[in-house]
Amino acid sequence: MVKVNRTYPAPASLAIEAAKGTNGSYNEADVIDQLKKDFADKCYICELQGLQDGVVEHLIPHHGGKHMDLLFAWENLFWSCTHCNNLKNRAEYEGNIIDCCQEDPEKHINCVYTNTDTVEIHVRDAQKSSRMTAKLVGEAFNLVNTGIRENATTIRKNALRTEMWIFFKLLNQYRQNKNKLNLRLVNSRLRTKTAFAAFKRDYIRMHSNEYPELQEFLLEKI
Ligand SMILES: [Zn+2]
Repeated sequence: MVKVNRTYPAPASLAIEAAKGTNGSYNEADVIDQLKKDFADKCYICELQGLQDGVVEHLIPHHGGKHMDLLFAWENLFWSCTHCNNLKNRAEYEGNIIDCCQEDPEKHINCVYTNTDTVEIHVRDAQKSSRMTAKLVGEAFNLVNTGIRENATTIRKNALRTEMWIFFKLLNQYRQNKNKLNLRLVNSRLRTKTAFAAFKRDYIRMHSNEYPELQEFLLEKI
């Protein structure tokens, strides 16, 4: 999970639809377009990009008729994949997930792709929201308690493996020849708008001794 820059004004349909109460829709085309753009067409939880099953996710959920005032609130709408939207639909996550449009999740959780091809999400502090967000992101890659989830986690891990392979290849190329072009290629993969950015950025953070000159690219202003 990385920081997302939510743009304003909010999509115009939200105010119109909110006036219709529970008959209104928070799925109008302008909402989808703006969410896709702001979130770089990535699920904010697993960071899979180019979603075929993107959904409007309510950070503060509205099931059971709760928080109906937040149903059309632009600040409460997030772009997510169906798999993560489904995983998050549990009471323990309610109100406990980091708002990546307000806070920088990279300051709270650490996303690790290990050399044994596994995904580990660690916390950087003792906050409950850090712990629950790390748990949720970890489940997106590792929870295989149903056939559907086994399939969804495999798809995400395969996509993550491919992205990390390309990243490591560019990094290796840069190590062998630290010219401007190779630096630019590495940097382009470290941007928060790229797929699985948190994993690549944390790799560079964790290898700061090897790449002291790349640390500044993690301070991207978004
Ligand atoms: Zn997802």
